[in-house]
Formats: sequence, structure tokens, C-alpha cells
Amino acid sequence: MAKIAFIGLGNMGSGMCANLCEAGMEVSAYDLSPAARDTAADAGARVADSAEAAAQGAEMVITMLPAGSHVLDVYFDTGRVGRAAAAGALFIDCSTIAVEDARQAHRLAAEAGFSMLDAPVSGGVAAAQAGTLTFMVGGEAGDFARAEPVLAAMGGNIFHAGGAGNGQAAKIANNMLLGVSMIATCEAFNLAEKLGLDAQTFFDISSKASGQCWSMTSYCPAPGPVPTAPSNRDYQPGFSVAMMLKDLKLALGAAEGNAADADFGKAAEQAYQALADAGHGARDFSIPMLKLKGEL
Ligand code: NAD
Repeated sequence: MAKIAFIGLGNMGSGMCANLCEAGMEVSAYDLSPAARDTAADAGARVADSAEAAAQGAEMVITMLPAGSHVLDVYFDTGRVGRAAAAGALFIDCSTIAVEDARQAHRLAAEAGFSMLDAPVSGGVAAAQAGTLTFMVGGEAGDFARAEPVLAAMGGNIFHAGGAGNGQAAKIANNMLLGVSMIATCEAFNLAEKLGLDAQTFFDISSKASGQCWSMTSYCPAPGPVPTAPSNRDYQPGFSVAMMLKDLKLALGAAEGNAADADFGKAAEQAYQALADAGHGARDFSIPMLKLKGEL
């Protein structure tokens, strides 16, 4: 069994690390936060006092960090993971970061004699705890095969999206679609209500017609039709406005850098930016529904 280092034990990483331990894997873990380290120790990980110490002799290093700058720093700069890991180790970054940062990480890893996968996830904290995340993986096919049994201990669906950075590309394109579709779903429910249809009636029709989408059937922004949706608990996340905004900014940065028009993505970004600026960053990203109804 590969010796695994896990760095970044926050909302997502703590559950993922616990699932690796639960599957019987030997995990050495590190986070800047002492409380996060204690939680990992309780879950069965051996806790180290630096990223470098956690990675000492590791054959796989998994990271779950806030942004690309943290990832590059931990592997190749002050974190010194790239000096501590075993020769030929596989680095698996599960954070959501810019495609360009991911490709830079692949380049630096290859130069130093390591393998790298970008493996961002979809599913949120509940899926991280339950071990049902979806992984979108970019990198060499052989490295993907090597990582698959480890990813399977943390996730359900595991997709190989192609070469370096393609996992991040899949993630941000998907989440741009999600942001746009959520706002469009809110507008449709609001229009239907203004025209005299209650939310349940519109849901029953549209969920079986061509407007059907995940934002409607799994996460309905109007309270009622989907009991598990955040709209039924005062729009507590779920997936926050701040997180959607982060992913939209990554998507639009990539769109701009690659001459891909994304006018509706841009409109969604502006809408979520306005909500964040108004102090609603911590609420669920289905909250444009309240804004349209004049309740914000
Ligand atoms: P978080 O802020 O809860 O956790 C990040 C952890 O990284 C923190 O515990 C922090 O102390 C640690 N950290 C930061 N710099 C470090 C360093 N140099 N060395 C060691 N530890 C360090 O964030 P999260 O919600 O767990 O998200 C992690 C990543 O997963 C992000 O990239 C996010 O976009 C992505 N993501 C989050 C969700 C979600 O629902 N929370 C869903 C999908 C993807």
C-alpha cells in the first residue's frame, strides 16, 4: 500500500483524509491549523508538524488547499514537499485552481522527476465526508491508473478528462454552466409565479419538459418542490455564493486567456459579485431567487 501524505485538512480535506484512513491506508497529514490536525489524528492519520515532514518518503501526496498559489507554494516553494517526497512520487492536487496554475504545477513536477494529476472535485462537504465525491482528473493515463484506487476511497465517479490541466478545465466549465443555469432557473420560477403559476405546478411541468436541469430538479431555488434543497432552510449552504464566485472568476480568467466568449458566464459572475458585495457571500448560491422576489 502506497505511503500517502495529505495536506490541507479543511472543510473538504478533513473528510477525504478520514476516508483514506477508514480504507486502511497509511496517511501522514498536515494543515496549518492545529485544530484541523487534531481532527485528522482522531480519524487515524499520523500528524506531522510541517508539509515537508508529512511528505517525507511519501509515494503519493494529496493536496486540498484554497488556491493555486497555496498549491505551488506547498509543492515547490516554502512547503518543500518537492524535496521530501520519494523519487517518482505522484502528486494529486484536488483543490480547485486556475488551469494555468495546474499546468504550471505539472511542468514543475515533471522537471523535478515527479508525476502530477490535477483532480478537482464536485460534491461539496457532505460528499467529502460520505466518500462520494466526483473526481475530474487531468494528467497521464498511467498516473490516472495509479491514482484510481486511492481516489476510489474518497469518491464515486472518477473521470479521466485528458492531459495536464484538463481536470480543472472540466471543473470550471461545469461550474460556469451551473452558475448560469441557477440564475436562469431562478428567473424562470419568478416569471412563472408572476404569471400565476405556483412553484410546485411550474416544477411539475418544467421538470418533465425541455427546461429541466440540475439546478431545478436537485437544487430547486424556489422552496417546496425539492425538500432537500437549501431554499427550504433559509438558503443556508449547500454551495455558497462565495464559492460559486471563486469558480466563475477562474472560468472567466480562463475564457479570457483562451479567446472563448462567455457573456452569460460574465453576467452570472457580476450577479454573484453583487450578492457577495451586499454581504450574502456565505449564503447558498440559489439565493438569486430571493433577490428577484425583492426579499433581499
Ligand atoms: P478550507 O478553507 O476549509 O480548507 C483549506 C485548508 O487548507 C485550511 O484548513 C487551511 O488551514 C489549509 N492550508 C492553507 N494553506 C496551507 C498550507 N500552506 N499548508 C497546509 N495547509 C494549508 O477550504 P475547503 O472548503 O476545504 O476547500 C478546499 C478546496 O476545495 C478549494 O480549492 C475549494 O475551491 C475546493 N472545493 C470546495 C468545495 C466545498 O464545498 N467546500 C467543493 C468543491 C471544491
